[in-house]
Amino acid sequence: MCLFCKIVAKEIPAKILFEEPDLLAFHDINPGAPAHVLVIPKVHLAGLADAKPEHAELLGKLLEAARRAAVETGVSASGYRVVVNSGPDAGQSVFHLHVHVLGGRALAWPPG
Ligand code: AMP
Ligand code: ZN
Repeated sequence: MCLFCKIVAKEIPAKILFEEPDLLAFHDINPGAPAHVLVIPKVHLAGLADAKPEHAELLGKLLEAARRAAVETGVSASGYRVVVNSGPDAGQSVFHLHVHVLGGRALAWPPG
């Protein structure tokens, strides 16, 4: 079982922000901004590159949950960034699909 599947199964603790039937939102263990939440599907998908057209509804729910995470961490009005790292060039390090929600400070663009 992968690391994030273990968080879904509550075998590894995480600071959970909220849970929905198909997904979980929790605080990143090594935050890159004052607010840094990860939104993950409960089902194991290694990454965005592994999503199929039939996952479109689930992907929509993840984005909607990213919006909710921004509201619940208080960064919706000041602004935030939603990121999915996919593959080596993007630095993906956990191979269970996750959406980063970062906010609470000015974020540089483009990313390094
Ligand atoms: P990525 O580089 O896009 O694959 O992002 C993986 C993220 O998962 C990083 O920001 C890590 O800090 C975060 N992370 C790794 N292990 C944990 C954990 N046990 N709980 C919460 N976040 C984690
Ligand atoms: Zn997994």
